[in-house]
Amino acid sequence: MLTTPPLAPKTVAALHRLGIHTLEELRQTGAVQTFLLLKASGLTLTKSTLWQLESLLNGTLPQEITQHDKTRLLAELKKHPPVAAFPPQEEMEHFMREALRQAEQSAADGEIPVGAVIVSDGKIIASAHNTCIADCNVSCHAEINALAQAGSEMQNYRLDGCDIYITLEPCAMCASALIQARIKRVIYGAAEPKTGAAGSIVNLFADKRLNTHTAIRGGILQEECRAVLSRFFQNKRKG
Ligand SMILES: [Zn+2]
Repeated sequence: MLTTPPLAPKTVAALHRLGIHTLEELRQTGAVQTFLLLKASGLTLTKSTLWQLESLLNGTLPQEITQHDKTRLLAELKKHPPVAAFPPQEEMEHFMREALRQAEQSAADGEIPVGAVIVSDGKIIASAHNTCIADCNVSCHAEINALAQAGSEMQNYRLDGCDIYITLEPCAMCASALIQARIKRVIYGAAEPKTGAAGSIVNLFADKRLNTHTAIRGGILQEECRAVLSRFFQNKRKG
């Protein structure tokens, strides 16, 4: 268990809220990412917390961290992609179900079933699905359609602070659009091994030169999200 000292009680409490209870869980997340997660969850921290986290992982005392280690950690911090504290699992599943409803609508229309919803302040401001065939437009992916809807709802193409829930990992076109729209958090369901641009083929969100504000999380209701796609392609083969 992570304890005080060396960590401050409020840091330990925040780590627990983030699901990091043990040294092993801290190791899986890493000192730098954990530090960024703590900041994203609202804590005001100094670099000394980063040294404390690193020393816990090394089994040493914070004062034993060398200048070399500090320089390395600061460089890692600088190039680390954005991290965010994500909503509770039930909340993410709730919005993903709405995205799944959109995906079902795609399937009913004979389009590749991908759905997306955009959420601002806990409220859905856009729901869309893939309409490439109907619109004879290769850019009409669920995400692009949802961004257009949300932009007109907000009267602003920049969607700072908004989240998107997508049933499938975004492609490079959509990932780029999401970054440019300054979406805060991208939550997706199933990975897309052939075209995924959030880690499967490339990760556009992980390059600090391209992205300084959009955090990603995959795997929410991934079985259901994958199932809607496999059902669609099975029916297509049968038909
Ligand atoms: Zn796309």
